Amino acid sequence: MAVQYEYILIRYGELTTKGKNRKDFINLLFQNTKQALKAFPELEYRKTRDRMYIDLHGAEEERVIARLKTVFGIHSFSLAVKCPTDMETIKTTALEVAKMDERPRTFKVETKRSDKTFPLKSMEISREVAGYVLANTTHLSVDVRKPEYVLQVEVRHDASYLMGRTEKGAGGYPVGVAGKGLLMLSGGIDSPVAGYLTMKRGVKLEMIHFASPPYTSEQAQQKVLDLTEKLAAYAQPIKVHTVPFTHLQTTINQYVKSSLNMTVMRRMMYRVAEGVARKNNCLILTNGESIGQVASQTLHSMNVINEAISIPVIRPVATMDKLEIIDIAKKIDTYEISIRPFEDCCTIFTPKSPATRPTLADVEAEEARFEWEPLVQKCIDETQAVMIHYNQVETDEFADLF
Ligand code: ATP
Ligand code: MG
Repeated sequence: MAVQYEYILIRYGELTTKGKNRKDFINLLFQNTKQALKAFPELEYRKTRDRMYIDLHGAEEERVIARLKTVFGIHSFSLAVKCPTDMETIKTTALEVAKMDERPRTFKVETKRSDKTFPLKSMEISREVAGYVLANTTHLSVDVRKPEYVLQVEVRHDASYLMGRTEKGAGGYPVGVAGKGLLMLSGGIDSPVAGYLTMKRGVKLEMIHFASPPYTSEQAQQKVLDLTEKLAAYAQPIKVHTVPFTHLQTTINQYVKSSLNMTVMRRMMYRVAEGVARKNNCLILTNGESIGQVASQTLHSMNVINEAISIPVIRPVATMDKLEIIDIAKKIDTYEISIRPFEDCCTIFTPKSPATRPTLADVEAEEARFEWEPLVQKCIDETQAVMIHYNQVETDEFADLF
């Protein structure tokens, strides 16, 4: 019978730190991996200081591979077959592995020998295995410098592993290792991409969304939940905070002159977001602002808007072109959701000619026209939260908001 892959061997990502940090990194990666593979209870896990092993126990490997590719902190992983540490068995098993894919290809054998008592050295093992595989197949030829296919042999004391297929991992740091941040999530293209990039740096996310019903629709809210569900593929569950923003927003419109109402509205959003972040132990805000994209994202506007708060704001797509952002949105499968036509609160209240060079003095004078502090506080207090899991979008929770 043909062999089947039994194990997955996982290599850790950018693990430059040592000591306790390294341990935290590995423990978190271990937890996150198990969480991502929760749908496969048959899997068995083992971790060492430089590797993690998963025993597939017959689980459908393609589905497991697809989920593993979303775990940040994994550099690469290989599918492996286990056999006893004995040269004859290693050779015959290697041949079986090589025959699993019969496309004509160049190849080489690479050996890692952690059992130093094994009679052959790594180079000798590689040479013997490669010779045996070549003699018994017709689809392979040797190229040690740029092989299309690498068959890896890992010789350990208790058992040996033969790895015939290697996949690239998601890279980055395990989600959570850097702490928690709050993503300002609109229904647009940019903010989900900003969220993905922030998570990749190891930041666990919660989402904040400003809703202005009845000006914004339930479908706009649904977009945000659907986008969150896509991002939950990388770390789940994710908490979504929805801010009832209508009253504050219409009050701004009533008191603030139209050229500055966008600037004031953004300052109010920042203030509410800062309050919700502090309440939920989020250490940063992150959003999809991109320099120069719209009036509120000129350097002058950013300056005046940022003045409203003191929490750090990370803007992962600040320097990217729209097309670069769209490429990532397509890759992470958020693009199609983002382009659904429902408007969010920013678009609906956009003035005809928003100021691109607001000054702090002018903006503060406008804000002095009304008592905004209690309205901001009310938004923070009345924000509703819901948990979103990967592959499971809950929708009823917001019924009373709309
Ligand atoms: P996006 O495509 O992400 O909506 P955008 O180009 O439309 O971005 P703006 O509408 O100016 O830009 O918003 C800039 C950023 O402010 C967004 O990327 C998002 O992080 C945040 N934001 C805007 N509207 C909302 C909202 N209703 N709720 C939460 N955050 C928002
Ligand atoms: Mg937007």
